Amino acid sequence: MRYFEDHPVPVHNVLESLPSGIALIDDRGIIGDLNQRLAAMTGYELGDLIGQDIRMILPEFQRDSHLKNHREYADDTVTPTALTNQDLNVLSQDGNRILSVDLSYSLMELDGQLWAVVSIIDNSAQRDAEEARAVAEGHTAAVEVAAAAALAQSEQRFRLAFEGNMAPTVFTSREGMLLEINDSFCQMIGHTREELLGRDSQHYTYPEDIGISEEINQRIISGDIDQFRFSKRYSHKSGRVIVAEVSKCAARDESGNMLYCVSSVRDITEERALTNQLSYQALHDPLTGLANRALFDDRLVQTRARMVRADEIGAVLLLDLDDFKGVNDVYGHLIGDQLLVTIAHRFEEITRSSDTLCRFGGDEFLYLAEGLTSPDEAEKIAERLLGALAEPFSFDDALIEQRASVGIVVWDGKSANTDNVELVQNADASMYEAKRRGHGHVVVFTPDIRQVAVSRFAIVQELRHALASNQLEMHYQPIIDLRTSDVVGFEALMRWNHPERGWVPPDVFIPLAEQSDLILELGAFALHEAIAAASCWEPQGARANAPYVTVNLSAHQFHDSNLVPMITRELKQSGLDPERLILEVTESVALLDIAETMIVMEQINRLKIGIALDDFGTGYSSLSYLAALNPKIIKIDQSFVRPKRDLERSNTLLEAIVTLGNKLDMIVLAEGIETPAQLEHLHGLHCDLGQGFLWSPAVPIGQAVTMLGEAPYA
Ligand code: C2E
Ligand code: CA
Ligand code: CA
Repeated sequence: MRYFEDHPVPVHNVLESLPSGIALIDDRGIIGDLNQRLAAMTGYELGDLIGQDIRMILPEFQRDSHLKNHREYADDTVTPTALTNQDLNVLSQDGNRILSVDLSYSLMELDGQLWAVVSIIDNSAQRDAEEARAVAEGHTAAVEVAAAAALAQSEQRFRLAFEGNMAPTVFTSREGMLLEINDSFCQMIGHTREELLGRDSQHYTYPEDIGISEEINQRIISGDIDQFRFSKRYSHKSGRVIVAEVSKCAARDESGNMLYCVSSVRDITEERALTNQLSYQALHDPLTGLANRALFDDRLVQTRARMVRADEIGAVLLLDLDDFKGVNDVYGHLIGDQLLVTIAHRFEEITRSSDTLCRFGGDEFLYLAEGLTSPDEAEKIAERLLGALAEPFSFDDALIEQRASVGIVVWDGKSANTDNVELVQNADASMYEAKRRGHGHVVVFTPDIRQVAVSRFAIVQELRHALASNQLEMHYQPIIDLRTSDVVGFEALMRWNHPERGWVPPDVFIPLAEQSDLILELGAFALHEAIAAASCWEPQGARANAPYVTVNLSAHQFHDSNLVPMITRELKQSGLDPERLILEVTESVALLDIAETMIVMEQINRLKIGIALDDFGTGYSSLSYLAALNPKIIKIDQSFVRPKRDLERSNTLLEAIVTLGNKLDMIVLAEGIETPAQLEHLHGLHCDLGQGFLWSPAVPIGQAVTMLGEAPYA
């Protein structure tokens, strides 16, 4: 007779009274019910767990295996009693505590459904107690084990730190013998550990740095220093040099004797190379590799200080290539660059080791010479540099002859007070003077050259002022039809009425203005004035057409994008027939950039403005420029009309030019006719037009108008 059979109690009550946690789980693993004890064990509320997957209270790592177990179990492949006393972890609600539990499984059929009844006993407390007892019993032994473990651990930590360290590290003995090395160090110098252990550290130190390494070692041994950071070089097995930063420190025994040294090394080869490269770049010209201005300045300061002390002579030579711009324009920048590089090499070959050669700018080179015994020596250097250019340069199909002009400044201990800037300025002024004298000249600086340079500078300043204060005006020189003696046009020529200097000729100020944007302003002024003047001119005598005006354009102006719009505007405002405006240009205009010249010419042609090719015969006179510019008028340069020498040759050329112009259907104009004989000669050659003092110099506008009212020149 059994009690429960006689006294049925609700299952619920029984479950709650049990000392273990109980859960009923269906075949899918869903919790059908559980008792309070299990809920309390997990930290969940009872209601939170009912209907949930049992895996919710399992640690993640057990979830899969549990599912498998449960399936097998539910499939009845395992006997119900087989699962007693299983250890299983239960995840507590806060998610971070894992309980150690004993677990048993059994199957139960309730109202036709099969349930797994899981009984869970928390045994954590018992386990802790067992561990505590074990610790208490084996206390001494445990301490020893722990100490050994700690040592092993620290040894292991050290090994890890040493072996796995990215920083190359070495242990060396007092004698500099290698005691220990890590992989990074081996990698850095390309030797294996076996090749290095027990050897002297000199073995891989760069020979020149053995001395410093030993010195530092000695100081550490002597107790002078304990730690030292320095840079040294190592020799890689391949022979490559490694630059490194080394932190070396000593381990000592109680009485201070050095036991060994630890060196931690940082390979700074690349860093150093980069810094070197950067400082190289900062001091050198990227194209030619020569010293740049900054390095030159630095050397100049040092050299001058030395010269003053030694009372020696030094010199700065400024060499400027003649017409280098033409090379770029004709052959392109690539050839231009190649030429510069080749020239730099030729110069380098003749540069003395004590001297400095520098690329100063585009096509300028500076040569700093020191230790000269006489000023003449500087001129000899200049001749040597020019001599280096004598042989033509050949690139692809191009054979280029390149000359240069040189300005020299010589100084000695006494001229110590001139500064760098002034020295180079003086060299520049001398070079400018050399250019003025023609190509290939050498000019040594003298104080009056400086004077010229100063006044040149002053002129530019004054010229700006002149424009603003109406000191500039246009004068007009008549252009004569050689057959009829009629005035067919006027050339507008600029005049500067300087308050102190009087009339300053354009030959003096136009070239100066051309070196700056000032020429654009002067050019605009000339065009404005000339167009306004021409729009008031009437036809002379019986002629049907009023005279045209020709205006000189500088190359700079021609390539200014504002030129065509500006002319268009001026023509519109004045109402002048565009065919009565002729622009005078020299071949240097086309020389600047022939492709661009064609574009500008196209626009000018469209406006119906004519072109006169000025100073014809003095420039390159290449037929391609003639074709590009397609001038209406060719102006034969005065040097053919009034030849100073080579009379016969000039005459032949004169004839040839006139014939060429006639053949090309261009109007030929001879400039600078001063005598009736010259006129007659030209007339005989069928030259169309003439200009010159024979008729009149350039005159103010009023006189030009009077001239038109008078009868044609007889
Ligand atoms: P260019 O264009 O060749 O002008 C002709 C020069 O020859 C003028 O000198 C003129 O006065 C001078 N001349 C004319 N007939 C004779 C003669 O029979 N005998 C002699 N010995 N000389 C004669 P100018 O006016 O002194 O001008 C010199 C140069 O200045 C001009 O040479 C031109 O290149 C430039 N120039 C003058 N005005 C302007 C201007 O408005 N703009 C630009 N860009 N250049 C100008
Ligand atoms: Ca002219
Ligand atoms: Ca001319």
